[in-house]
Amino acid sequence: MNKGVLILAEYKWHSDHYNPIALMPSLYKSRPSRTLRAITKFLPIITLILLTLFFPNMVYGQEEMPITAKSEVDYRYGQIMRFRLSAQSEVPIENATLFVRAPELPNTLTTEVEINSKKEIQIEQSLDLTQYRLAPFTTVTYWWLVEDKDGNAVTLPEAHIDYVHDQYTWEKLEKDGMVVFWTGDDASVGQAAMDAVVKALPRQQSYIPFEPPNPLRIYVYPSADDLRAALRLTGRDWVGGHAHPDLGVILVSATNPRTAAIELEKTIPHELSHMLLYEATGANYGAIPIWFDEGLATLFEEAANGDYETILEEAVITNSTIPFAELCQSFPTESSKALIAYAQSSSFIRYIQAEYGNFAILQMIRALADGADCQSVTTRAIDRTLEELNEEWLEDLSPQSFPERLWQQGGIWLVAVLVGFFLMSLFFFGLPRSKS
Ligand SMILES: [Zn+2]
Repeated sequence: MNKGVLILAEYKWHSDHYNPIALMPSLYKSRPSRTLRAITKFLPIITLILLTLFFPNMVYGQEEMPITAKSEVDYRYGQIMRFRLSAQSEVPIENATLFVRAPELPNTLTTEVEINSKKEIQIEQSLDLTQYRLAPFTTVTYWWLVEDKDGNAVTLPEAHIDYVHDQYTWEKLEKDGMVVFWTGDDASVGQAAMDAVVKALPRQQSYIPFEPPNPLRIYVYPSADDLRAALRLTGRDWVGGHAHPDLGVILVSATNPRTAAIELEKTIPHELSHMLLYEATGANYGAIPIWFDEGLATLFEEAANGDYETILEEAVITNSTIPFAELCQSFPTESSKALIAYAQSSSFIRYIQAEYGNFAILQMIRALADGADCQSVTTRAIDRTLEELNEEWLEDLSPQSFPERLWQQGGIWLVAVLVGFFLMSLFFFGLPRSKS
């Protein structure tokens, strides 16, 4: 069981649903200082005077009212998150609404609780975590709206809780704003993860000259299965790691302390690349092409994925590569196609780097940070449309000419048969006579 921060706040509000006084963040988390209390005391009066002057109808008949509220949250990982509110008001409270927001939720969840005109309330609302699947180490934001019987309302300030995967005991290693967490007694796992990030960072920063988030938290799960279970993924065997760029959290796994360094030198640089690209592109991160984000991430992996080569070769031969224009916003969900998408993206970025140089990659990052989209990024950076570049890359993958391929694929026998027929026809019909 993990318990959230206890919030004790005293709010003053009057009349309006969207009263800014009720939202004063300085009153959040602790009792206000004497100066703040004085400001709080007089600010509603000043606001009332101003509102009376400019909006006399809004203020008419409405009074100032105090409320004392206390909000609490705790959770059982993967099962339930409970939100509690106790509040006291001089005017009876009619209802309270809970708002919950998290990156994994499609929209803000709201639940309203009816209260039959009570001056003192104690309520609890819960979030079923078996239904709403939150990612480990995400941040949940929540707040309450309390309304009294006269229709006056106060919105309590937003509060946050870190959804720590507390079913594991995490060991910790810290250096320069980077924090590594791992499980078990073997400290070499934590050290290997720290070494991997320290080694990868300067190389990546020569392409993406940005600082990682501070703190950057890396959680090393004890096995790939544990990581997949934590992410609640099924059948996605290629998932080696996961990043929450907006939260500065990376999730990876290392099964065996002896091979941890090899595993982590692959997964950590990959996830770190997503993190830095997020820092570089800011609000435009959501719009950057997935083929670029994933392709660049694989470029930084210490050891190239041997499977990608085989998968790509087969896709080229069977003509089943996916046009990059279809890999802008998402990758296919079907695992075999998703693997082709990863393999292609990896090869595509390597092709661009080999053909147009590191500068082209840098230019693409700059263009994306500047708001370029999937189609315009290549035009802006290297003066090629995505389709042109797609063609070039495919040609580069299959450089052999048609006769060469025919020859290799048994065309020699076809030629031998044709020559045989020709010689036989000469034998039976003789040489053609020339006209005199
Ligand atoms: Zn990735």
